[in-house]
Formats: sequence, C-alpha cells, structure tokens
Amino acid sequence: MYKASEAAFEAAKRVMPGGVNSPVRAFRAVGGTPFFAARGEGAYLEDIDGHRYIDYLLSWGPLIWGHAHPAIVEAVVDAARRGTSFGVPTTLETEMAEQVIRLMPSIEVVRMVNSGTEATMSALRLARAFTGRTYIVKFEGCYHGHSDSLLVKAGSGVATLGLPDSPGVPTATASSTLTLPYNDVAAAEQLFAERGEEIAGVIVEPVAGNMGCIPPVPGFLETLRRLTEEHGALLILDEVMTGFRVALGGAQERFGIRPDLTTLGKVIGGGLPVGAYGGRRDVMALVAPDGPMYQAGTLSGNPLAMAAGLASLQMLERAAKEGLYEQMQRYGQRLVDTFVGAAQARGIPATGVAIGGMFGLFFHPEPVRSYRDASQCDFAHYAAFFHGMLQKGVAFAPSQQESGFLSAVHGEREISTTEAAIREVVASL
Ligand SMILES: *Cc1c(COP(=O)(O)O)cnc(C)c1O
Repeated sequence: MYKASEAAFEAAKRVMPGGVNSPVRAFRAVGGTPFFAARGEGAYLEDIDGHRYIDYLLSWGPLIWGHAHPAIVEAVVDAARRGTSFGVPTTLETEMAEQVIRLMPSIEVVRMVNSGTEATMSALRLARAFTGRTYIVKFEGCYHGHSDSLLVKAGSGVATLGLPDSPGVPTATASSTLTLPYNDVAAAEQLFAERGEEIAGVIVEPVAGNMGCIPPVPGFLETLRRLTEEHGALLILDEVMTGFRVALGGAQERFGIRPDLTTLGKVIGGGLPVGAYGGRRDVMALVAPDGPMYQAGTLSGNPLAMAAGLASLQMLERAAKEGLYEQMQRYGQRLVDTFVGAAQARGIPATGVAIGGMFGLFFHPEPVRSYRDASQCDFAHYAAFFHGMLQKGVAFAPSQQESGFLSAVHGEREISTTEAAIREVVASL
C-alpha cells in the first residue's frame, strides 16, 4: 500500500542521514515509513503511491495558502523569467520590507535571510552586540532553529528524538544559554533578580509550536517584556511559526506585546525559503553595513522567494479583512472539540488548543502548559491516531510534539470530512 514510498525511502537512506534532509521527516515518533510527496493542490497533498490527504502539516507551517496557489505560482514563474538571482539589490526587496513593516509595527527595519535558523541566530548575535552581554535566556521545549546557542533543551525534532543537548555544541556556547520552564513567571522573575545584568536577551516562541501547540498563560509574555526592559536586555519574539499565522500581525498583535526584535520565517516566504529579523531602528543600526555586527547572505532577498512571500502577504492582508484568521480559529476549534469529545466518549484523556491558524491535539488529561506536560502525553495513542487518520486520508504532524496548521483554502468540506475521520479513528483506538 506504501510500496513506492517504501522503495523511495530505502534509496534515500543509502545517501542521506536517515533518508531525509530534516529529521522530523523520517516519521520516527510514529514509527513506519514517511510518505513521499508527489504533488499538492490547495488543501490536498498526494503521495507517490497515489494516496490523497487533507494536509494539516502544510510543510510544517509555511503554506497558509495551501499547495501551489495560482497567484503564488504565477509570481514565482514571472520572477524566474526575469532572472533567479542577481547579487545586487532589487526593488522587490524594498517592497517586501515595506509590507512586513506595515503588518508588524514593532519592526522598524528588517533584514531578509533564508531560513528561520538564520533569523534567530542573527538576532542573538545582534542582542549580544547591542547589550555587550553574553547570556541568552530560552525556554524548555521551544525550538529556535539549529544554531549552537539555541540547541539547548530545544523542541521540535530535538525533543521528538530525545536529544535535548546535541553533541557538537561547544560547552562554552551551551552554557551561555540559560533555560527556564515555559509559562513559568516566577522562574523568570527569579532568574532576572539573580542575573539580570548579565542577560543580553530573552528569546521566546510567543505561542509555543514546537512541543505541540501551547499558548502563553496570561501575564507570561507581559512579565518577560517588563523584566527585559527593567534589566536592559532585549526581548526577541521568535515568530517564525506564529508570524502571519496566529493573527495577521503575529502573536505580538494578538497579545499586544511590543518586542525589541522579531524573527520570522515559514509563512513569510509563501512556501519558498525565507527568514527575516527586524525590530527597533536603534538596534538594527548595528547590522552591517550600517553598523559593525556582520551578517550576510549570497541568496538573501532572492527574487523568487521575495515574489512568493510578497504575493502571499498581500493576499493575507486582504483576506484578514474578510475574517480569515477568525475562520481558521473556528475550524481549528472544531477539530479540537471533535477530537476531545470523541476521546472523552472512549474514556481516553485528551485536550487541545486552537489559536488562529495553529492547533494542537494532545492525549493528556489537562491543558498542556509546559514541556514537562507535553512530554507526559500518551505517545502510543498519538501514533495509532496518526496512522488511523492517514488511512482515512488526513495528514496531521507525525509527532504529538508539533503543531497542526490550517490554511486559507481549508473549507467546510475539508473540516467536516476531517471531523468524521477523527470520530471514527478515535472510536477505534
Ligand atoms: C521552524 C522554526 C524555526 C527554524 O526555522 P527553519 O526555517 O526551519 O530554520 C525557528 N523558530 C521557530 C519558532 C520555528 O518554528
């Protein structure tokens, strides 16, 4: 039934670590063979064995317009015809920067990069350059890409594979990252009381999306804002996942928090590789060539990527006025309610959360608030649920410690089909 994918995976494993170019794609958390993608259209993804899935993985978040949206494809093809890379500036980059700044008012100046990892890595360097301090604070289970300083108690594939502290990261680098439990206001207060003057910056996922989907408890982000301000540290909101997804202006709009720096990725590229970091003008003034903090990229601001990103953001701006974010939230809530209801009917502990275009489904008795909670979920149940849903033509994340995603092209038909599948699969667990 998965013959083609199995053969493809065998071939891939001979030439790539684990057969993949990013660890979570190997489906280790749920066992089995990953399905190989053949094509995607709108809310649907087709694998090379001819199965068709309603896609809630959406390339791990970027595809808020679904697969191969005609306007995005056209923008990319148009750009490609004029040349795929120049190494000198294009007006498209300015247009893109203006668009990002319009949607996220805390960003006064922005630099484009090629991935979320580059964005967060550069933002940390900038926070250290600006403050002249060394220590960075991050939260357990938050994932900020794979740069050395941030591979400490990280979420996503790092958590899924149980590799909290990666070999190859120098001890000195790891020890300059201080970690705290997510949503723990008292722990943050205490750390700042003890070491506030050594801290260059706090980096946080304003809605954690890499240990499942975990919203901030009231007061958490507000406390981080206050503490960083009081102690001369920078607050970096890592909105690589939440940006343009939990609201048009990201989590900072949704929760009313103005960070010093913001990192972006995923949705910003419209499905092409883009990341960005930006924020306060006085802080960004340190970035070369205006300032001494060096950061560069041969393909940064690439015209194909800018064209896709810009088309995607312009469409989002229009769709937001027509209630896109409320619609995604309603659909996400329906999936959560159906999941929790079906599980309760079977006496299986379950909980979930929907926020804008993100959602999380957990086999856990109470709301999940921290990495500790997330790691106490029932993983065997999730694996069975995941495979059952695949068989019914619905693709969720192949790990409970990841988020689910909605797009603007998931409609009533996809949601009700998914609800019916959830009921059947949970009833058979
Ligand atoms: C995905 C993600 C990253 C890393 O982005 P890449 O493009 O995979 O390098 C960083 N931070 C958060 C919050 C993410 O979700």
